[in-house]
Amino acid sequence: RGRQYNGVNPEGRDGFVRFSELVQYFLKLEGTSGRNALVEILAELFMRTPTEDVPPTAYLLQGRLAPYFEPVEIGLGNNYVADAIARAFGSDRATVLERFDRLGDIGEAAAEIAAESGSSPAPTRAPPVREIFDRLLEIARTTGAGSVGAKVETFASLLGELDPLSCNYLCRVPLGRMRLGVGDPTVLDAFSFAKVGDRSLRKGLERAYSETSDLGLVGKTLWEGGIEAVECLGVRVGNPVRPALAERLPSAEAIIAKLGRAAVERKYDGFRCQVHKAGDDIKIFSRNLEDMTASFPEIAEGARRQVVAGTAIFEGEALAYNPLSDEYLPFQQTVRRRRKHGVEETAAELPLRLFAFDILYADGERVMERSYTERHAILEHAVEAGDTILISEAHTTGEPEELLEVFNDSIQHGLEGIVAKRPDSPYQAGARNYNWVKLKRAQAGNLQDTVDCVIVGYIYGRGRRTAFGVGALLVATYDPERDVFPTVTKIGTGLSDVQWREVRERCEPYVSERKPARVESNIEPSVWVEPQVVIEMLADEITRSPVHPTGADEGGQGYALRFPRLVSFRQEDKKPEDVTTVTEIVELYNQQGARTTP
Ligand code: AMP
Repeated sequence: RGRQYNGVNPEGRDGFVRFSELVQYFLKLEGTSGRNALVEILAELFMRTPTEDVPPTAYLLQGRLAPYFEPVEIGLGNNYVADAIARAFGSDRATVLERFDRLGDIGEAAAEIAAESGSSPAPTRAPPVREIFDRLLEIARTTGAGSVGAKVETFASLLGELDPLSCNYLCRVPLGRMRLGVGDPTVLDAFSFAKVGDRSLRKGLERAYSETSDLGLVGKTLWEGGIEAVECLGVRVGNPVRPALAERLPSAEAIIAKLGRAAVERKYDGFRCQVHKAGDDIKIFSRNLEDMTASFPEIAEGARRQVVAGTAIFEGEALAYNPLSDEYLPFQQTVRRRRKHGVEETAAELPLRLFAFDILYADGERVMERSYTERHAILEHAVEAGDTILISEAHTTGEPEELLEVFNDSIQHGLEGIVAKRPDSPYQAGARNYNWVKLKRAQAGNLQDTVDCVIVGYIYGRGRRTAFGVGALLVATYDPERDVFPTVTKIGTGLSDVQWREVRERCEPYVSERKPARVESNIEPSVWVEPQVVIEMLADEITRSPVHPTGADEGGQGYALRFPRLVSFRQEDKKPEDVTTVTEIVELYNQQGARTTP
């Protein structure tokens, strides 16, 4: 012990990692253009990370101080971070902001100013990760009148203790711009490599992560009790569970052929809500696991009133509905409710109902392994009749004609189709499989359904569009197994000038100097964009293509979308990892021949 080292401590003998060492790994991660290299770098980091530091390290990798679902924010914007930098290094806000303007990055501005001030602490005195993390948390928890001043002061004192590179990364945390390009599955792989030298633990880790949504908790549990302890984690009220998802099939016949009998429900076009209840304490999570409780006060209130189970986790779709006319309002109306302002007014004007369709946990018991039929019965018991939470009705049938009747009825009510469920299937967190199959209204000449893609680059065009700096977008699908984004098409025509401008604005914060490590592309766009901006698209068909790596075989033949067009921006409710997967694209391709308009 007592061993001194200069920022390198491969065995982690001092029992902690210094923040200045952690940022060296961050730097490496950012400089890497391949996914395997990301895993290697992270595995090396985690091999020397003691238990206590695993959660802070995992959250900081996500650019956060807590799991995604906990709304812990530092509460300092550009100007206040600039104030803190100024205070730490004897400058002023204007000078810092000027530097920021020139460099385009507040972290780099901080690093430059720190370097010029010559205030670099000795490596042996550099603070440990856990200390920096705790003090950041303390800043986040400082609230109330006059708290901004205190936040700036604490942040400034932190900066004053750090070397320039550490200052750079520290400033990115409050601004939500960590952007290391590391996906959660990549961190899980790294956990596995760090502990057993290969990725064999990934499956168990993934399951626990799908059920708890807390990377820090999964890591800490692995370090403390091994994979056995991780496997015992399970769902808990308060931690959002990654939602089960639906597959697609082209027709009623195909669905019945696949499922035999199916419980057919209307497909409500609203917001997926996962409601957690512990007594009077209600939390509502979105499909991408964000805490949306504040946006849906009437649903929370409805859950308090109507849910008789003491503890429960259940799911449904929230949308505006008029019970007198049995009419559902279109998604565009419902979507206004995602706004965080004027919630009470819109709630009064346009109250939402929740069509509950599944239950995962009731009265202290996990019920995910029970059959769909049993869960539906438990759901009906757990929720009392009332006017806010309604139970989604299911019609069980083995006849395609009957399925079509429910489908047509749903369309007549202004909905988009049906979801057919396998009566004996469990609830599998985060899984997309044939336990649930959706059938949506067909649009002539199109693929039957929209696909979601993520923008990974743009290609400058000639002529009028150059004014907006965009000619075509390069977009990608997602491969969850490998945690990579292979491209699938270029989309250029059919966007209005307003849409181009919006594309540009949305992509701007994510422009990257080099190919982001998890992107796979044979095309070199004019500008790379980190996979963040999700768009919903329609296309005429899917073709085999050597141009795009989505689903590429050994000969390099992949799949591409033909004649794609933008339908909407989905960044608000979908994370890049939620876009259409490679497997889905291949399945859509295989289904094309089988399409019969329902
Ligand atoms: P998609 O988003 O097109 O993959 O379709 C699946 C989504 O449909 C789910 O994530 C839910 O948000 C939504 N949905 C609407 N009605 C139902 C229902 N009755 N059962 C399950 N999911 C539903």
